[in-house]
Order: sequence, then structure tokens, then C-alpha cells
Amino acid sequence: MTRLPPRPALNWPDPETPASLDIGDIYFSGDGLAEKRAVFLDGCGLPGAWADRPRFTIGELGFGTGLSFLAAWDLWRRHRPSPSARLDFLSFEGALLSGEDAARVHARWPELEHLSRRLVQRWPDRARGVQRIELDDGVTLTLFVDDIDAALPQAMARVDAWFLDGFSPAKNPAMWSTETLGQVGRLSAPGARAATYTVAGDVRRALEAAGFTVAKRPGVGRKRERLEADLRSDACAHSPRRTRTALVIGSGVAGAMCCRSLLRRGCEVTVVDAGDAPGAGASGNPLALVMPRLDAADGPAARALLEAYLFARRIWIDLGPDAMRLLDVAHLPRSDRERARFSRLLADPPLDETFLMALDDADQGGGLRHLGAVAIRPDVALPVLLEGAHLRFGCRVTSISETETGATASLATGETLTADLVVVCAGMGAAGIGGLELPPLEGRLGQVECAASTSQGARAVADGGYVLDAFGKLVFGATFEPAPEGPPLVSADAQITNLATLERLRPDVSNVGPLISRAAIRATTPDRLPFAGRQFASSSAHVHLIGGLGSRGFLWAPLLAELVAAETFGEPWPMEASARAILDPDRFARRALRRQS
Ligand code: SAM
Repeated sequence: MTRLPPRPALNWPDPETPASLDIGDIYFSGDGLAEKRAVFLDGCGLPGAWADRPRFTIGELGFGTGLSFLAAWDLWRRHRPSPSARLDFLSFEGALLSGEDAARVHARWPELEHLSRRLVQRWPDRARGVQRIELDDGVTLTLFVDDIDAALPQAMARVDAWFLDGFSPAKNPAMWSTETLGQVGRLSAPGARAATYTVAGDVRRALEAAGFTVAKRPGVGRKRERLEADLRSDACAHSPRRTRTALVIGSGVAGAMCCRSLLRRGCEVTVVDAGDAPGAGASGNPLALVMPRLDAADGPAARALLEAYLFARRIWIDLGPDAMRLLDVAHLPRSDRERARFSRLLADPPLDETFLMALDDADQGGGLRHLGAVAIRPDVALPVLLEGAHLRFGCRVTSISETETGATASLATGETLTADLVVVCAGMGAAGIGGLELPPLEGRLGQVECAASTSQGARAVADGGYVLDAFGKLVFGATFEPAPEGPPLVSADAQITNLATLERLRPDVSNVGPLISRAAIRATTPDRLPFAGRQFASSSAHVHLIGGLGSRGFLWAPLLAELVAAETFGEPWPMEASARAILDPDRFARRALRRQS
């Protein structure tokens, strides 16, 4: 199995009907849109089932051309329960079509043209793992790109309606096995309904074993019958606790992203920060660089890093050209070991050639070329993310305590602020807040230099250190030293180290003008991975932590913020369970307990 997910081998028996040569079956027959609407939308009782719901989750086995997704989105636009209601569409696909092929299929239905264009513009990237794609109308697509046996056990969601659309059971039994449909049962919310076009006995039995009551219904088109299945459950519909107000502590990139994710979910958000402007700490460098950190072997950390990168790119790109620039990064190996890692990556790449290539410069042998990196202006981006929140700068939080229904933050002024949810995104500052049970944090002093640049366009060279040339600025560094006591101070030694980095990576830059140095403390953890989620997973529902982002804040923050929001609101997780587990704030405490016992 290659790390890059396969494209389906497509065949178009008639001009508008795609079929999979791998499976020997068609994606739909006749008028595909009419078929998807009748089997899945009507079969799941939509739009009635989502009436009055502030959020609703559809699950789908087999994303295929995205036609069922478009049909659901189209119905949602016309019958959205309220202007703030949210639709999560969680889908699974092993062989992702290209956006061009999908567009070619959608073109048969001019009524879907607008939505098709929107979807194809934001089409999922060719990478194994989970991708979260935000669309209009409160619709979010969360797509697992992987074989169904690997993907389903890794999902976490509470699905209200299922579209079971995995080719015919006779030709493709994996999509209908007892294990697969057992996972469908596990991921279902009380009262969930599943719909499909097949009435095969094995499928009915597997659905019954998974807890559903099944009923045959008259079919559409060439199918005489179809199936509807209701989860047997006496429980009333799941409603996660209400979170209307949120307090975010810290206005760096983690706090700003958290603010964005919560505002999008209709929360009233207050952001407090001890500094006097957004990103006064480590997020306030003149420019930030987001490039992927790719592991040579697949695994939870590799997935988490890749998923964070793909999601972050989308969010930063959406902020537009005032805040960000797309650029190429030449990534040079620092050692023979790293050169070997790069060549393993190129032999079995986790991303396609739109993201990753060998660097063909003879002087830079063995390097990587990242084609989808992003340079960000934090001074423009952070205020945009915070727009719509109540901002309180110069406010130091001294302690946090839980209440029955939320949490209360005490400020140094003696004032208290209470909210349904508190998210602590305060970097090393979290260590000074009483009442928190934090993972172990280590401070690292990082210094960067900034000079004026006359070059047009944007480019970067990196090898652990980096030189980023964008927005008329040349930013280079960064040092990474144990943090001293007291405030971060710039030093001449660090500047000498950074000038050596500039000379190594950009020997063509000879006369760099006056330098402005900036030092900040980054918080890291002993395993160098960040954390996001509740503290004391079992007892504390109202205080969440995001931290330990180290020097990758602009890469991690968007996905970690989305994870906290998804868990708070009972939405599908935007990453695999095994990737989520290695980011759990409790992991250090649990490891210590295991060692003791
Ligand atoms: N709902 C889709 C649409 O609107 O176009 C059609 C789905 S098509 C009938 C079935 C899909 O299931 C295909 O895209 C296929 O690649 C996917 N699939 C089949 N077997 C799979 C497996 N073992 N793991 C993951 N996906 C699989």
C-alpha cells in the first residue's frame, strides 16, 4: 500500500456515468441526482429530521463524486433549520476522484453548478487521513481518505443520518461487512437512521446486528426496493450541553484560532490577554512560515502533522493576500540522516506533486521542494481572527475555578469573568494561572531577525533554521534555547547565530540592512507535540487547554482549535482517534501512572 491514496480507475460507459474499473460497478445509474435524493435524502427523512436542530450530522460510506454531498447541501440551503444551524457531513472514501473528474460528473446537473464550483474549488487534497473543509451555509465536510477498515475505527462522531453508498455488496463486500456496519452503529446518535439502495440479506442482518431495525421500501429507477434502518434506542436525541459563552485566555495564534472556531459556532467569545495587543508573545514575529513537517513513516504523529498542515493552509489562504502569500520552500537536509529521510519521503510520498517534489538544484542535493507553503503576517491575520470577540488586553488571569455549569477566571484586578467554556491558550503564561492541572511545559527562547527586502514575490529556504522573504521583509532565524528566568531579551550572540543561518541558506544575500531582533518564549512539551482538550478528561468539562505548540504555532493552531470546538459541541472529530490521543493533555499523567504501576 502506498502512502498516497489511490485515484480510482474510472471508466465512462456513457458520457455521463462514471464507473470504477477496480470494483466493476457504477457510481450511480440513470439520473444520479434523482437517485441520491430518493434513496438517501428521502430515505433518511430529510429535511424533517433536522428541523429545529441547531446542528445535524450526516455520515456517508463512499464519498465518490460528491454528488450525494451536493444533494444534501442543496437541500440544507433550502431547508436550513435556522441561519445559525450547522450541518456536519462526515464521509469516507478510499479512492478519491480528482476535482476535475468530479466537476465533469456534476456538470450534468446545472442546478448544482454553484455548489459544485464551490466544492471543486475546495476539493480535498490527495492525502491519506482526515480533511476538514469548511463550506458556506454552516456546512462542514469532514472526509476520511483511507480504506474503510482502517478509517471507520478511527472516527469519532454522533451521526444522525447515514448514507450507505459503497457500491453493490456483491462486488464490494468490505463496505457492508458486519465490522463496517458495526462501526456505523457505534458512530450513531440515538435515533439515527440509515438509508441504502441495497436490500441484500447480509446487509439487513449486519445492520440488525449493529442495532438497527430495518424496513424495505419501494425503490426508484432500476432498483425495485431500497432500505431504511432506524437505530433501536429508547434514549432521547443527543443534545450536548449548551455552550453559549466562551472565555479564551491568550490572543496569540492558538487563542485567535480558538476564537474563530467558537465564533463560527455562534458562541459569544471574550478574549483576555495580559499583553497590550494580539500576539504580544511568540505569535508576534514579523512573519510566520507554515510548511509541512513530514515523517518518513506513517503513524499517528505523521497523520496529525499532515492533517494540521492541510487544514491550516486552507484557513490561512482564506484570509487573503493582505495576510498571507503562497510560496515555495527549498528544504535542505541538515545531515545524512535527514537526506535519507527525504529520499524515503520522495520514494513513498504522503502528498502528491502539487505539494512535494525533489529539489532539482544541483547545489542543494537531496533537498525537498514544498510547493504549498504559506507566509503569514501575524499583525494582519490575528486581528482578523479575533474580529467579533470582546477583547480585553492588559488583563492578567490569576486563577481559574470550575462551577457546576462553567468556569470562572479571576483577574489580577480582583474582577471575575464567568463563561460556559474556558479555553486556556496562554503559552508559558498558563503556568502562572492557579487552579490548572497542566501538562509539563518547557520554555524555549527563540530570536529572529528582520531586515528590509527589495525582492518581489515570496520564497523561503529552510534547514531547521529558515530565511523567509515575503511582504518586503527578510525574516530569518530562529534560535531555540532554554528560556532564562524573566522576560525574553534579545542578544548579540543569538543575532550572530541567525546571521550564520542567513549566510548558509541565502549566500546570495550580501548586504543585509539594519536588523530588528525579536525574542519570545515558546512553550513546548517533553515529547515536542502540542496538547489540546479537556484537563482531567473525566471530571472537567468546562476548562480546555491548548498549548505546547513550540515553533509550529501557525501550523498546529487551526486544527487544535477546531478539535476543541468539535469536542465541545459533539461534532465529528477533525482527526483520527489515534492522532487525537497523542495530543491529549492527559497523556503525560497517564504515562506516569503506567510507569508507577
Ligand atoms: N456517494 C457517492 C457519490 O455521490 O458519488 C457514490 C459512492 S460510490 C457508489 C462508492 C464509493 O465507495 C466509491 O467512491 C469507492 O471508491 C468507495 N469505496 C469502495 N470500497 C471502499 C473501501 N473499501 N474503502 C473506502 N472506500 C471505498
